[in-house]
Amino acid sequence: MKLKDECGLFAIYSCSSEIADALQMGLFALQHRGQEAAGFAISDGRELRCYKDLGLIQDVYAKGNVRLLRGHIGIAHTRYSTQGESARPENAQPFVLKREGRWIAIAHNGNLSNAAQLREALLSEGVYFASTSDTESLLHLYTRAPGATPHERFHVISQHVMGAYSVVMIDGDKLIAARDPFGFRPLVLGRRGDDVYIASETAAFDILGARAVREIEPGEVLVIDRDGLHAARFGPARPRRQCVFELIYFARPDSTLFGQNVYEFRKACGARLAEKETHEIDIVVPVPDSGLPAALGYARRLHKPLEFGLIRSHYVGRSFIEPYQASRIHKVRMKLLPLRDVLQDRRVALVDDSIVRGTTSRAIVHVVREFGAREVHLRIASPPIIAPCYFGIDMPTREELVASSRTIPEIARFMGADSIVYLTVEELQECVRDAERFCMSCFTARYPEGSLPADHPALEYLLPK
Ligand code: SF4
Repeated sequence: MKLKDECGLFAIYSCSSEIADALQMGLFALQHRGQEAAGFAISDGRELRCYKDLGLIQDVYAKGNVRLLRGHIGIAHTRYSTQGESARPENAQPFVLKREGRWIAIAHNGNLSNAAQLREALLSEGVYFASTSDTESLLHLYTRAPGATPHERFHVISQHVMGAYSVVMIDGDKLIAARDPFGFRPLVLGRRGDDVYIASETAAFDILGARAVREIEPGEVLVIDRDGLHAARFGPARPRRQCVFELIYFARPDSTLFGQNVYEFRKACGARLAEKETHEIDIVVPVPDSGLPAALGYARRLHKPLEFGLIRSHYVGRSFIEPYQASRIHKVRMKLLPLRDVLQDRRVALVDDSIVRGTTSRAIVHVVREFGAREVHLRIASPPIIAPCYFGIDMPTREELVASSRTIPEIARFMGADSIVYLTVEELQECVRDAERFCMSCFTARYPEGSLPADHPALEYLLPK
C-alpha cells in the first residue's frame, strides 16, 4: 500500500510550565501520520508563541528553539496535506490569531468536504486568508461564531461545516479538543498524574508514560482549564463513522484505536484472508512494513512459513528517489531489497494491507518474479478501493484507482500476478468490533448521509444514469 498519510495531533494541559520537550516527544510518536511540516503553539494562558515550518518534527523543533518556549498549555501538529497546496510553509499548522485580547490557536486532522463553499462565504465577508488550508476556515468560523463558551461556538460551527475534523485548540487559558459528529478521525484523551494529554493515537501516550483514558466521542468537545475538565456534546446526532483505514494502514500497530488494538486487527484480517486460500503456497512474503501483521496472521492460519523475501531499505527516502527519472520498478528495487535465495523457485503469497493505484504493487510483483519466484499470488487484507476519500486521506481520483474499473481477474492481469484475493467488505466487517460504526466509503462508494454537500461530484456517479 502506498498512500500519503494524513495529520497527527498532540496537546498538553499541564501543571508545569516546562512542556515543550513532552510536546515534541508526543508528536514524535505520530511522525508516521505526516512528514511534510510540523508546528508547535505554547501558551501560559496570556501570551502564546507558535513556531511551524516545513520538515520533520525534530528538525522543526530544533530550528525554532521550541524548547525555550514557556507555558503550561501546548498543541502540536504534524502534517501531510489533504487540502491546500502541500509544500508551502504558510499551510503548516497550528494557525493562530488574536481576537478580543485572547490568543487562539488551532490544529486539525481531517478534511472539510465543503471547504470551498466555507472559504468563499468567509471571503465574501471580508475575511483575510494567509493560507490555502481548510483549517484556517475552521479558525475563522470559531472566532466569529456567536456564543460565550467553546461548546456554544462548536454547536454553531457544526451547523455549517461538513466532513472530518478532529481538532485541538488553545483559547486564552483553555485547552480544547473536539471531534466531528461522525467521528471520522481518531482523538484520544490521556493522563499522567494531573496533566491532561490529547492525541491522535494512544502510541503518543506510551512514549511519555501516560495512560489512555478514553476516546473523545464524536460530536463532543472537551474544555480543560484551571477548574478541571468539562465535556459537552455540540453536534447533531449522527451515526458513528470511524475511518476503517486508520486500522488497516494509517495508525501505528502499537496504538489502540476505536477500541481495538491495531496490530491484532491486522493479524485478524490476514487470518481471515487465509481462510479463502485455494492455491498451493510455499512461502508467505509480507510487503514491508505495512503488510507485516496481516502476513503473520495469514501464515499462521495456513501453517506456512513467513519469509522476509523483501527487506525494506531504511536509508532511502522520497527526497533521495524523486530527483531520479527512475522507472517504478527501479524505485521499488531501491526501496525493497529482494532476497533471491528466499524467492527462488517458490510459490509465493505476497501479502499487503491494501492497493490504491496498483502501480507500486505491480512493480513489486515484477521484482519478486524477476528474483526467481515460480508463482506470485497477491493477497490483500482489505477490500478493493473503488472510490476516493473526502474525509482526510489523500487518495487519487476514482479513475486512478486500479479497482474502480476492473474486475478481480483484470486486476490480477494488470499486476502480472498469478492470482489476487482481497477481503470482501463483509469479511472486513467481521474483523472490526462494532462494524456498523465504521466508514467504509472508499470500498463501497456510499458516503454517509450528510457528510458531503449536495452538489459534491462524488454524489454524481451514484445517481441513476
Ligand atoms: S472513505 Fe475510506 S479512507 Fe476515507 S474516511 Fe472512509 S474509510 Fe477512511
